[in-house]
Amino acid sequence: MKSVSAKALLDWVDDLIRKRRVMGAQARDDRFTWGPLARAADLRLDYDVTLLPPKVFLQPPREKLLEFSRAGGYTSCVEAEPFVLLGVHPYDLAAIRQMDEVFSQDHADARYLKRREAATIVAVDVQAVSANTFAGHMGASHVETGYDILLTRIGDGYVAELATKKGEAIAGALASAADADAAAQEARREVWAQNAQRLKKHELKAAPADWPGLLRKGYEHSVWEEKAKLCFSCGSCTLTCPTCYCFDAREDVGWSLARGTRVRIWDSCMLADFAKVAGGHNFRKNKADRYRHRYYRKGQYIPEKIGGQIACVGCGRCITACVARIANPVEVFNRLAEAR
Ligand code: SF4
Ligand code: SF4
Repeated sequence: MKSVSAKALLDWVDDLIRKRRVMGAQARDDRFTWGPLARAADLRLDYDVTLLPPKVFLQPPREKLLEFSRAGGYTSCVEAEPFVLLGVHPYDLAAIRQMDEVFSQDHADARYLKRREAATIVAVDVQAVSANTFAGHMGASHVETGYDILLTRIGDGYVAELATKKGEAIAGALASAADADAAAQEARREVWAQNAQRLKKHELKAAPADWPGLLRKGYEHSVWEEKAKLCFSCGSCTLTCPTCYCFDAREDVGWSLARGTRVRIWDSCMLADFAKVAGGHNFRKNKADRYRHRYYRKGQYIPEKIGGQIACVGCGRCITACVARIANPVEVFNRLAEAR
């Protein structure tokens, strides 16, 4: 583990940008977004939360799967240039680790896995707490594995843990920095302990481990109808979520009808047509059914696929994104818990 000054860290970032494709969190007005980094000075390691999670680089909102032509045959398209994700918060890293499991199972998703292999992840512990996070309740306020490098702000500088060979490959000057002493390592543990408390902006009364049981009993609970009455079916809660991964595949055929592409785009179980099938049948025609389904995905269906992990890391993005103010998982699970 290394200790570096803030200035030395920025010099390292500038050097990295000269050698690699680097994505980082940057300020846009009073919010933060992920994007290609042109210079270290634009990087904001002190961001609270980004509008969209870094999943946009691992599962892009729109992706070309293949090109085909009337003459016959097709060419598969896979884009997986190496890149660095610089400054991933622990809750987003926890989500990426869940997606790694989801996309490795059953019909393993070659495109996701190639991009994941192409990614080097530099995580950073949270410095500024966002208004709606509850990652501290979800066990995602800090992580101890899954990153290639982990940065933690300690006083005027950072502690940098080079955790993997991939991390060492981009470490450059960090590798020759001074070793972090016992006090710096203790200070990092203190940051983790503090963040476990600080990242609790909503009070969760139902432990995540209880969510599957609450859902098993709560299928007919009034909360689904009550909240769904206000829902616009806009999909913002799922599109901003780091653990939502549903997509649709479509064919775009050119005007000449001679050639076309198959693309996949993000989809959302909150959209009215998500469960519509041939013949016009819709298995979740009612808003309340769709609203309830989202919570069953988070607390039961995905956990059944990935060893019981709850598919919510408490980033709070859905709470912020929902104009109807009904997408807060804490409120819903607290209501289910009241009925115990
Ligand atoms: S459900 Fe909401 S709080 Fe949980 S991970 Fe998704 S966006 Fe974040
Ligand atoms: S963001 Fe809110 S209004 Fe939009 S689909 Fe989700 S719950 Fe409904």
